[in-house]
Amino acid sequence: MKYYSTNKQAPLASLQQAVIKGLAEDKGLYMPENITALDSHIISSMKNMNLQQIGNIIAQSFFGDSIEADVLNNIVNETLQFDIPLINLHDNIYSLELFHGPTLAFKDVGARFMARLLKYFIKKKGIKDINVLVATSGDTGSAVANGFFGVKGINVYILYPKKKVSDIQEYQFTTLGENIFALEINGTFDDCQTLVKSAFMDKELNSKKCLTSANSINIARFLPQSFYYFYAYAQLDKINKAKKLVVSVPCGNLGNLCAGLVAHKMGLPIEHFIAANNKNNVFSNYLKTGVFIPKPSVSTYANAMDVGNPSNFERITDLFSIYSSPYQAITKQISGHSYNDTRVAKTMQHVYGTYNYILDPHGAIAYQALIEDESLKIDKSGVFLETAHPAKFKNIVDDILGIDINVPDALQTFMRGKKQSIELEKDFTEFKNYLLH
Ligand SMILES: *Cc1c(COP(=O)(O)O)cnc(C)c1O
Repeated sequence: MKYYSTNKQAPLASLQQAVIKGLAEDKGLYMPENITALDSHIISSMKNMNLQQIGNIIAQSFFGDSIEADVLNNIVNETLQFDIPLINLHDNIYSLELFHGPTLAFKDVGARFMARLLKYFIKKKGIKDINVLVATSGDTGSAVANGFFGVKGINVYILYPKKKVSDIQEYQFTTLGENIFALEINGTFDDCQTLVKSAFMDKELNSKKCLTSANSINIARFLPQSFYYFYAYAQLDKINKAKKLVVSVPCGNLGNLCAGLVAHKMGLPIEHFIAANNKNNVFSNYLKTGVFIPKPSVSTYANAMDVGNPSNFERITDLFSIYSSPYQAITKQISGHSYNDTRVAKTMQHVYGTYNYILDPHGAIAYQALIEDESLKIDKSGVFLETAHPAKFKNIVDDILGIDINVPDALQTFMRGKKQSIELEKDFTEFKNYLLH
């Protein structure tokens, strides 16, 4: 399978090229040339399979002609070494808990898969070392750092804004050492992202170093996220509740939602999608008005969704470009909602008080959108994606719910490590010299 750029101005790429490059030369995002629909009997047989088996079927369909079957199998099995429980919260409402990976974030799936695939390709190509650059406002950094930790031949540089990520998040990517380098930038998240973008544009740097990105623009991070949409469907199918399925996704860069739309295109019978935004409502505004207007991001409780210019929007419009009226097709398939922090707090309190379930702010937005959306009738099943463990947002959650949430061992272990970071100004020359030293 080949991958094309959404801007259509770059040559087709192999999987290997697309993963190593990250972004196409024309600055477009890579998409698979064919998204093959699976036979409906394969999808209905998934109710008897575990997560790894389901992941393997999907991975084969995307990557099967680019990688040997046993290698791909291992990559998938090593990626999916944790549970993804589907909890019936009340009535016809289910929480898909995507946060049981090593950093307690849903991004663990994509990050672990990408790290293993990249390792396989650089070995095959004889590349000595590759440098992964990633700018983070918190959650991406920890998932990527832990996904790539100890992988030989890959150096990871995590750029984060000084004093603007939570303590837990900072510990998660500054205490690992080895091949993980945490760069504490004296600036904002936008400054970090600008430094990374400038690095990809710099001719001298690229001639001396092999650079790639581990944000969800990378195909290897984005596509594996479709695994768990099939898994959620299979769990509901097992109990005969999958017939009319509505899925609500808390959105930032739109990679997760886009992976769900890909799963749908592969034949997964999801009836409707809901895009849930915080105050950074560029996408839900687009659904309402038909115009996409990026704007500077504002900070909210759900900080992993504080995105003012969601990069995977291009992939969504590309998926729907086959329709004569793409906007109409998009709004038929997806509805949008946006909530402020006050609403998020109320939702968390209501769900905790009524169902004794602790939502994190990201999951709370998806839950609220699901129960308010008019697509959710009583005869349907509604699933919302709970993307982060609430203990990761301990201060906020404790404050809102008046509790002292237990921090799982997996997080406490990070808190016992020693912080190692390199402080840099938001100056490209300084960053470049650092990478070249
Ligand atoms: C990254 C993230 C999101 C947003 O996902 P996108 O794929 O960027 O839309 C939502 N919730 C959490 C906890 C995240 O870390």
